[in-house]
Amino acid sequence: MTATIIDGKAFAAGLRTRIAAQVATFTESAGRAPGLAVVLVGEDAASAVYVRNKGKATQGAGMISIEHRLAADVAQDELLALVDTLNADSAIDGILVQLPLPGHIDERAVTTRIDPDKDVDGFHPVNAGRLATGIAGFVPCTPLGCVMLLKDTLGDLTGLDAVVIGRSNIVGKPMAQLLIAESCTVTVAHSRTRDLSTVVKRADIVIAAVGRPEMVKGDWLKPGATVIDVGINRTEAGLVGDVDFAGAMSVAGAVTPVPGGVGPMTIACLLRNTLVSAARREGVVLDEAAL
Ligand code: NDP
Repeated sequence: MTATIIDGKAFAAGLRTRIAAQVATFTESAGRAPGLAVVLVGEDAASAVYVRNKGKATQGAGMISIEHRLAADVAQDELLALVDTLNADSAIDGILVQLPLPGHIDERAVTTRIDPDKDVDGFHPVNAGRLATGIAGFVPCTPLGCVMLLKDTLGDLTGLDAVVIGRSNIVGKPMAQLLIAESCTVTVAHSRTRDLSTVVKRADIVIAAVGRPEMVKGDWLKPGATVIDVGINRTEAGLVGDVDFAGAMSVAGAVTPVPGGVGPMTIACLLRNTLVSAARREGVVLDEAAL
């Protein structure tokens, strides 16, 4: 058996096109384009690439992208003051502070300073609480992208057994909440889980968000399972996911590749959240079903 490859790159391109169409409608109605502010602290090469890609994609969708670069030794108070300024700026609909931040800065102090209604990354505890209680807010972009790919691949997810490997605040926990909302039966596994391969074996849906190259083996999977590989691991052999792709392809029903699976969805969902924020703030009605 050979699994289907879930083409996240193609799905994300389609989503970006649909977003761009609604950005045009928004801009005509509101008299301004949606604005996203991205804050980069320090010189981390990977973060700089992410920020550049986010800026390009934002402009490509017809939105305004504003980048703030601060020195690695910037005082925390100065960063918080910038966040306050962006919170108060009516042309800014989304604020994103690229993580990780340098060690002298308290990440939680920064993420909680962002206005929850401009928190397009969905990392603010208010948005985590909204997600957990079913109130409209902002959902973190990576798990939102994963659920879109799952629904595109499987249709209705009701009643399916899902195992999420990883319990971080930015991927594993919100992923579990989204799957509960889709009426899956959800198990969250982590580094203390006993006999992980047996836990994974019963899953119709496996989400791997661990950060360990090719940890999930093909023979852990239930035949026909749908596998979403969130992992991005740089190895000597290049970029690999948390799933042994070749092994999974011979057992699963559908698998996301790395790269070209979840990664492109993350940026597309950031654009989506920024547009949704702008529409809420200006009272413009969007066709959210198309997003
Ligand atoms: P974290 O390091 O915050 O969390 C990793 C999770 O994996 C933890 O909950 C940890 O458990 C669990 N874990 C670690 N080792 C094992 C193990 N041996 N068995 C089972 N569980 C284990 O990572 P993130 O959630 O931020 O990211 C996960 C991966 O996804 C990374 O590779 C990251 O690069 C990638 N990523 C990709 C994105 C994309 O756009 N595609 C976006 C964000 C992340 P415990 O809690 O017990 O320590």
